[in-house]
Amino acid sequence: MQITPPELNTLTALIESFPQLRAKILTELTYKNQSFPVICAELGSEVADKPCVLFVGGVHGVERIGTQVILALLESLLARLDWDSQLQILLTKIRIAFVPIVNPIGLLNGTRCNGQQVDLMRNAPIDATTKVTFLVGGQRVTPLLPWYRGTKGVEPETAALISYVELLQSNASSVISLDAHSGFGLSDHIWFPFAGSHQPIKSLGQIYHLKQLYKASFPHHNHYQFSPQSLIYRTHGDIWDYLAMKQNDTPLLPLTLEMGSWAWVKKNPRQLFNFAGLFNPQKQHRHVRTLRKHTVLMQFLMDLAASRVIEDMSGELLTRQYAAAMQDWYN
Ligand SMILES: [Zn+2]
Repeated sequence: MQITPPELNTLTALIESFPQLRAKILTELTYKNQSFPVICAELGSEVADKPCVLFVGGVHGVERIGTQVILALLESLLARLDWDSQLQILLTKIRIAFVPIVNPIGLLNGTRCNGQQVDLMRNAPIDATTKVTFLVGGQRVTPLLPWYRGTKGVEPETAALISYVELLQSNASSVISLDAHSGFGLSDHIWFPFAGSHQPIKSLGQIYHLKQLYKASFPHHNHYQFSPQSLIYRTHGDIWDYLAMKQNDTPLLPLTLEMGSWAWVKKNPRQLFNFAGLFNPQKQHRHVRTLRKHTVLMQFLMDLAASRVIEDMSGELLTRQYAAAMQDWYN
């Protein structure tokens, strides 16, 4: 009998129930004689040259709350398709893409790594140009320790996500992505490249503008600390670093949502004795609260994309926001 992580069953059931959801298998993994698909699913415009928002989860299998937050958004959108005329209009303006389970075997096993013990977020073909954080930064010494980069090149999950983002970029006027993780710190963070250097990302001015608009528009939902990931810790092989480095004319704003799980542990110290408990809220009320906590941010990203605010920034505004970002984050 095939054993699948419950989140993959949820995704498959949604695809079966909603023909409007255009799903594809990006890659098929084999593990212990079973097959596990990495699935993408899309809603909204199929026309090239429209903005695209991509929601990613489950890069680290143990951080299943990331997958669950993304699936909760997808379920909500699908439930509203029939009656929500605002959503119907939104979907004519943008494409919304989902890869909720990048690492299905990690989800199955409750591990950070994939079936080959590789940490996918250390596995992209890119080396940090600054000194990385010890161990956490990625290592090729042994798969027995976490943050293993692998020695056999790019894993199929990593390759699948990279090619999918590039495909989206080739069919879009801009791509904003949100990759949901958990496990760091007391509060929620939004990180963006680079993880492997202190250089500013090409879309820094746009990202800063996005942050400013979010802060001004939703001041009571602004529980996020925005920063380049290199200010927190430095790693090799970050997938978003790799994509951000590539020459591509389509703007990419790659955001990582890092949900602060230490707060859940602090409130429920028994979680310390359960590995998954370090990364996921264990109490029902906290779990539900986490599932709804990021709705405003995710809706904001879709509305922002549909309004083409980022694409239509004037040269003067871009220069001003870039300078402000340099001042705040790179001084
Ligand atoms: Zn993670």
